[in-house]
Amino acid sequence: MSKSDYYELLGVEKNADENELKKAYRKLAMKYHPDRNPDNSESEAKFKEINEAYEVLSDPEKRRLYDQFGHAGVNQNMGGGGGFGGFEGGGFGGFEDIINEMFGGGFGFGGSGARRNGPRKGKDIRVDLTLEFEEAAFGKKTTIEYFRTETCDVCHGDGNEPGTSTHKCTTCNGTGEVRYSQRSLFGESISVKPCPTCKGKGETFEKPCHQCKGHGIVKKKYSKDVEIPAGVFHGANMQIRGEGDLGQNGGPRGDVIIVIRVKPHKHFTRDNNDIYYELWVTYAQAALGAEVLVPTLDGKAKFSIPEGTPSGKQFKLKGKGIPVLNGYGRGDQYVKVNVEIPKNLTKKQKELLEAFEMELTGKKQSTVSEDEPNKTSTGKGKKGKEDKNFFDKMKDVLS
Ligand SMILES: [Zn+2]
Ligand SMILES: [Zn+2]
Repeated sequence: MSKSDYYELLGVEKNADENELKKAYRKLAMKYHPDRNPDNSESEAKFKEINEAYEVLSDPEKRRLYDQFGHAGVNQNMGGGGGFGGFEGGGFGGFEDIINEMFGGGFGFGGSGARRNGPRKGKDIRVDLTLEFEEAAFGKKTTIEYFRTETCDVCHGDGNEPGTSTHKCTTCNGTGEVRYSQRSLFGESISVKPCPTCKGKGETFEKPCHQCKGHGIVKKKYSKDVEIPAGVFHGANMQIRGEGDLGQNGGPRGDVIIVIRVKPHKHFTRDNNDIYYELWVTYAQAALGAEVLVPTLDGKAKFSIPEGTPSGKQFKLKGKGIPVLNGYGRGDQYVKVNVEIPKNLTKKQKELLEAFEMELTGKKQSTVSEDEPNKTSTGKGKKGKEDKNFFDKMKDVLS
């Protein structure tokens, strides 16, 4: 792996002076800065190379070694083999000054997230909202409550207790920044960080505000009226813009994300906009047909079980499902008919059933022999007549 020549990288002559180096570096840094080229690892790599070249060439001692021994000289000087690992750890050293000067101070290193002074949107706040099944189906006007940051109303955001004075921060002399030298592989370099004493404000308080402890912001309970649209589903997210935490440096508030939870229903299950209902009927109801009431989202509705309904058959009640979210129309309701097989029969019931079976098959007990597997089946052959026979017989037995 051969490294590019530092002079070539910066596009300067071997005898370039400090000013020419700086000029060349600014131009290239401007071009390849990661904030200008997001998601471009090539520019990022190039940016690192340029920084590396500039760091070496802008230091007379390192430059002398580099001129004399090339890359090996600089590397050797730094303990060998270590290369320029210091760049990775965020210790860009003195470049930050130049970069911040170039980009108006709004840029930091390590990607866009590191911008210190630019406007930043506040944090989003997640609010879980649990709805009844019907509320999700038809929508609901409600009020959500949550905690969000507000400007402290005691100190109006400046952080000092009213009636007390502020002092220029002695750590940073009012600038809000501290420069400190850092020993790196190259020797000493200067870094700029927000002042730890005043947190970048440039002043300290005689007494911090009692309510916000000097932060200037407080968490407060906040209520917001919201309208949940008809048709929302479990797990749906609803975004309310600009109602989250305060932004920084004049940035907008974050958003509120309402996460919808829907309680299960005692009768219905839901699949998209359709709902399913399991109707349990007796053998006689299924065989003879019956009028029953079934629950729907709009109240109880009459439902006719047709004569001879097999267990498991599903019927559709059109338009009785969930309204389409942000759309028109409604899904359907499906009624699945299940025939209940009675358990723990009384003696009398057993006798009746046996009599019924007798009537149906002419045998005392229903046994399906292998020779005549269809003997007990009634749905075979000439329909109509045989079916009528079957139902007449059943009506006789049951009445
Ligand atoms: Zn306060
Ligand atoms: Zn300070």
